[in-house]
Amino acid sequence: MESTTVLHEIKVTPVTRSRVKEVDFTKLGFGKVFSDHMLVADYADGQWQQPEIIPFQPISISPSNSTLHYGQAIFEGLKAYRTQQGDVVIFRPYDNFKRFNLSADRMDMPAVPEEIFIEGMKKLVDLDRAWVPDQPDSSLYIRPFMIAMDEYIGVRSSQRYRFMIITSPAGAYYNKPVKLYVQDKYVRAFPGGTGFAKTAGNYAASLKPTREVQEMGYDQILWTDGIHHRYLQECGTMNVFVVIGDTAITPDLTEGTILAGVTRSSVITLLHDEGIQVEERPISIDEVIRAHQEGQLKEIFGTGTAASISYVSELTYRDHHIVFDISQWKISPAILQKLNDIKVGKLPDRYGWNVRV
Ligand code: PMP
Repeated sequence: MESTTVLHEIKVTPVTRSRVKEVDFTKLGFGKVFSDHMLVADYADGQWQQPEIIPFQPISISPSNSTLHYGQAIFEGLKAYRTQQGDVVIFRPYDNFKRFNLSADRMDMPAVPEEIFIEGMKKLVDLDRAWVPDQPDSSLYIRPFMIAMDEYIGVRSSQRYRFMIITSPAGAYYNKPVKLYVQDKYVRAFPGGTGFAKTAGNYAASLKPTREVQEMGYDQILWTDGIHHRYLQECGTMNVFVVIGDTAITPDLTEGTILAGVTRSSVITLLHDEGIQVEERPISIDEVIRAHQEGQLKEIFGTGTAASISYVSELTYRDHHIVFDISQWKISPAILQKLNDIKVGKLPDRYGWNVRV
């Protein structure tokens, strides 16, 4: 859907009293505490209306709001960090901006202009900069999202939408190694579907399969493709990398079944720069098992905004059970360190990933 834009300066209505002093930044966890302000922009009559930053508050929608029924909803997830130099930076927001509009296109929603997504985000984070934690490994999680706003329960693309950004301080993330179960009963995505889009339904459909493996003692599903049930897609809500011999392999994005992770892209760049060969290609579970049997399977890890890199400590596929000795790993710990150091200014940002607020 095309959008035309008439934008004015983002209007700001600040809170009369900040809640930031009431928050214990040493006990944050994830996703429960929200900062003082939020950005709201409505799309109506084929146009984006003036965006506003207002105090964080509930929104009112009709029970007939079409998002509630048909899930025309998309989102993004990215982080702002406080650097060693005292700046506040957002990590690769333009990549999330592009991905958001790819999701919007797939879900037949209007593209959000850069002036709203990027400029609005910078202005919001700037206003709430006191909410960006300075404890090690902490960050301000940024959640842009868009929902349909038509009050209509016929099945069709909505004509009105609401784009919003909320932010939430996130505590130090403990990189607990994850136990993966290779799923071939349920599928996450298939060619022609919505796997590459960050849309609500993908997550809704993953909840029951994930709970089932968690009840079996695993942390996440290693999703395989919907046709052969053999080719790796993603693990939980992370992209997956497998190190076989000296080569890091990650599934390619060509089928449109995999979310193009920003961390995935950063890790590929850093691996290249370390002189490690990277292959983006289909990789089957059989190849992983064979590599293990031949002593060539070195590391498996997931990548995502939440933890940057999560090591895989165990992998189960049918009657194959692989346990890793993570203390022997070389590649992913080095990349994790480098990535985290770039984000907080301990290493120079040679790639222009950090956008200052
Ligand atoms: N796959 C899925 C399904 C996800 O939800 C996420 C988290 N956004 C990722 C991969 C990792 O993407 P990113 O590195 O951009 O956080």
